[in-house]
Amino acid sequence: MSGNRVMVYDGPHHVHIEERDIPPPGVGEVQIRVAYTGICGSDLHGYTGKSGRRVPGMVMGHEASGIVSGAGADVDPTLVGRQVTFNPVLYCDGGCGHVVENHCAQLRVIGVDPTIQGAFADYVVVPAHRVVALDGIDLRLGACIEPLAVAVQAVKRARVEDGQRVLIAGGGMIGQCLALVAHMSGATSVVLSEANPQRRAFAETMGFKTVAPDEVAALPLSDVSFDAVGIDATAVATIGAVCKGGTVCFVGLGLPTIRVPLFGIVVAERSVVGSFAYTDLAFDEARDMMASGLVDLTGAVGADTDFERVGEAFEDLATSRRHDLKILMSTGDT
Ligand SMILES: [Zn+2]
Ligand SMILES: [Zn+2]
Repeated sequence: MSGNRVMVYDGPHHVHIEERDIPPPGVGEVQIRVAYTGICGSDLHGYTGKSGRRVPGMVMGHEASGIVSGAGADVDPTLVGRQVTFNPVLYCDGGCGHVVENHCAQLRVIGVDPTIQGAFADYVVVPAHRVVALDGIDLRLGACIEPLAVAVQAVKRARVEDGQRVLIAGGGMIGQCLALVAHMSGATSVVLSEANPQRRAFAETMGFKTVAPDEVAALPLSDVSFDAVGIDATAVATIGAVCKGGTVCFVGLGLPTIRVPLFGIVVAERSVVGSFAYTDLAFDEARDMMASGLVDLTGAVGADTDFERVGEAFEDLATSRRHDLKILMSTGDT
């Protein structure tokens, strides 16, 4: 291969692949030969134009794995050849006054910020300090550390404790990861609400109870609920699903504005918290969880899509022709 294939987002439902020069790593950066890149729900909402969070002309891709293929000046050259993922969240040195890194006023995310080339590409260049070693995790699962980190952060935000009952609305990759992490954090009852039978079956193979969305209202109340979708219906369901004084954590970014039942929050003194991306600590914890084997997402990953067909996979997911929890683009290099 002589160049760097990239998948460019052209606007709603359109992408194309073009070949560019291989980007060299600058000072403090590494170049990664991409092996796998996951299609995220947020990429899909951007792809359809619904969320407005992806801009035409950009190269998406924020959950990926690969092998370090080059190190810039001031970077440890022994990184070259290592199997890695990267934490795509970039923040300032503290000058903005942020206390927690994912609250940075200058926060940028690789593959989301239109000015930074993401990982739907053969090569991606990232700051060396964002590289996270896979430490034995295989490259396919390595690309799934990022969505697992989203769940680790949300479970921390919702303060799930031993013995609690948890309800999750949305059985996509984040919802499934939430079930696993909530269970590992001591939740004794975890129920996942999801309409799609394929997604419900996966949660059930992991030992979780599942219900259809219209069955949530009949369930016993939970202590904590997570909305991994983010639309009116799931907000109403997750708020109504927790007991008085319970916590509802919003993770999914389905729509920028939704209607919520105010009285259901005020009168029942329910706490509403948001959770966005992850701290560095949560990302590293997700890597450690996966490396330990306590979390096994092997069954969540569908058949790989080769680079030339990744646009088809986007369209299939966006139009519900496929319901895989995670489709990975493979560059074919491993
Ligand atoms: Zn994502
Ligand atoms: Zn900052």
